Amino acid sequence: MTNVSDNKEIAQYIHGVHVVGSGVRTQPVYNPATGAVSNHVRLGNSQDVDAAVASAEAAFPAWSNTPPIRRARVLFKFLELLNQHKDELAHLITAEHGKVFTDAQGEVARGIDIVEFSCGIPQLLKGDFSDQVSTNMDNWTLRQPLGVVAGITPFNFPVMVPMWMFPVAIAAGNTFILKPSPTDPSASLFMADLLKQAGLPDGVFNVVQGDKEAVDALLVHPDVKAVSFVGSTPIANYIYETGARHGKRVQALGGAKNHMVIMPDADVDQVVDALIGAGYGSAGERCMAISVAVLVGDVADKVMPKLLERTKALKVLNGSNLAAEMGPIVTPAAHARITGYIEQGIKEGAQLLVDGRQFNSADAGEGCEEGFWMGGTLFDHVTPQMRIYKEEIFGPVLACVRVPDFATAVQLVNDHEFGNGVACFTRDGNVAREFSRRIQVGMVGINVPIPVPMAWHGFGGWKKSLFGDMHAYGEEGVRFYTKQKSIMQRWPESIGKGAEFAMPTAQ
Ligand code: NAD
Repeated sequence: MTNVSDNKEIAQYIHGVHVVGSGVRTQPVYNPATGAVSNHVRLGNSQDVDAAVASAEAAFPAWSNTPPIRRARVLFKFLELLNQHKDELAHLITAEHGKVFTDAQGEVARGIDIVEFSCGIPQLLKGDFSDQVSTNMDNWTLRQPLGVVAGITPFNFPVMVPMWMFPVAIAAGNTFILKPSPTDPSASLFMADLLKQAGLPDGVFNVVQGDKEAVDALLVHPDVKAVSFVGSTPIANYIYETGARHGKRVQALGGAKNHMVIMPDADVDQVVDALIGAGYGSAGERCMAISVAVLVGDVADKVMPKLLERTKALKVLNGSNLAAEMGPIVTPAAHARITGYIEQGIKEGAQLLVDGRQFNSADAGEGCEEGFWMGGTLFDHVTPQMRIYKEEIFGPVLACVRVPDFATAVQLVNDHEFGNGVACFTRDGNVAREFSRRIQVGMVGINVPIPVPMAWHGFGGWKKSLFGDMHAYGEEGVRFYTKQKSIMQRWPESIGKGAEFAMPTAQ
C-alpha cells in the first residue's frame, strides 16, 4: 500500500498508518458554504476492508486481554486530547458538513459524553455472582468482547455518531473498523490520530473510507462479528438483513419523522423557540430534528403568526459566522431532493407560508454565491396523506398539521411508520404522563424538543427507525458489543464420587 503522507487525498487508516489503499475510485468533498471542491476522498474496496479486518483481527488477542482499567486509561487520555482539540474537530465538521460552528461544537461535546461514559468500562463490565447455587458450587456471568466489529456512519454527525460506537466497542475490548460517510470524511482520520496519540495499539481502530462497495465487503466478511449502522431507513433495512444473513450481530438505526405535539396550554414563546431551533437547526439535517408541528385545538392561532415571523427572520449564514443560526445544505443532491419535496408539497395542496427556495446565496456571506443554500420553509395545513408528511425530507422544511384534540394527536404520531423522537409541549403533568406512556416512539421529550438521551441512557427509535433490538451506547451499547458467558464452578474435593446423569438441581 502507498503511504499517504505526500498525498493530500483523504484516505484510509489501517494498522496505525495513513494509507491510500487499493481502491481506485474517488469522490469530491465539498465545502457546502462556497460550493467549492475542497478535497477528494479515496473510496476503499474489498482489499482495503480485508487489510483493515486483518489488522483488527491481529490486534484483538492482546487488546481484549488488556485489563479493562488499562483500556479505560487509554480512553481517559483520548478524552484529554479531545478536549484540547475539540474546536479543531468542530471546524472540520463545519468545513465539510456546513453546520454552524457552535452547533458543531455541540456535536463534539455530545460525542465526548460517550467517551466519558466509556471510561467507566470496568464498572460496566461487572458480571453477576451467585454464591452457593448448589452445595459448594457458585455461578457467575462475564461479559466478553465479540472480536472485530464495524461501524457505518452517516454524513450528518461525522464525529458524534462514530463516537456513539467506537468508544464503547473498544473499551469493551473489541477492535473496530469505521466506515464513515464519504461526504465529510476528514474527522474520522483526525480522531484516529488522537487515538494513536492516546496510546491505542495499532489495529484497534481502523478507518476505511468508501461507499456501498466497502460496506458490502464488511457485511459479508466472516471475521467481522458485529455491525452498527446509522443512516437512512432503506439502507438500515438492507444492512440489517444482509448482516444478519451473514451471521453478524446488527444494530441499524434508520430515518425519522419527528413530531412536536403542542397542547393549547403550552407556553407559546417556548414553543416557537423550540420549533425554530429543532426544525431549522443544522438545516434540519438531524435525525432528531422536528419536522412536523402538531397543533392541537386553537393553539395554532397563537403559534402560527409568531412562527411565521421567526422563520422569515432566520439567520442563514456561513457556518463560521458566529451569528449564524442555520448553514447550507450538505450537497447539491440533498439540495435538489429538498427542493423537490417543496414542489411536491405545493402540488399536494399544503399552504406554503415561507419558501426557502427564494433565499439568495449571496446573503449568506462573502464567497457563498455558489454554495448549496436555501432558507427555512414553512408549510401549514399539511395532512397525513401528503408525501411531505409521510416521508423524511431531511432538510429545513417544517410541516404544520392541525388536529382537534390530544387523542387525535397521539393517534397521528402512532400511525406514522417512523418512531425515532417526539416531543409534547404542555403545562399539564397528567397530559405529559399520558403522552409518555401511550406514544409509540423510542425517545420522548416533554417540553424538550430534541430529547437525545444522555450517554448512560442509550439512543434508539422504534418502528422503522431502528432494526435490531439494542439501542446505541449506554448499557445497551455495552451489551451489544459483548457476549455473556455464564460459569458454574466447584472444586475437586467437594465433588461427590460417581457420574451424574440427571439434570443438575440445587442440593
Ligand atoms: P445514508 O443512508 O445515505 O448513508 C449512511 C451510510 O451508509 C454511509 O456511510 C453511506 O456511505 C452508506 N451507504 C449509503 N448507501 C449505501 C448502500 N446502497 N449500500 C450500503 N451502504 C450505503 O444516510 P446519510 O444521508 O449519510 O444520513 C442521513 C440519514 O441518516 C437520515 O435518514 C437520518 O435520519 C439518518 N440518521 C439516523 C440517525 C438515528 O440515530 N436514527 C442518526 C443520524 C442520521
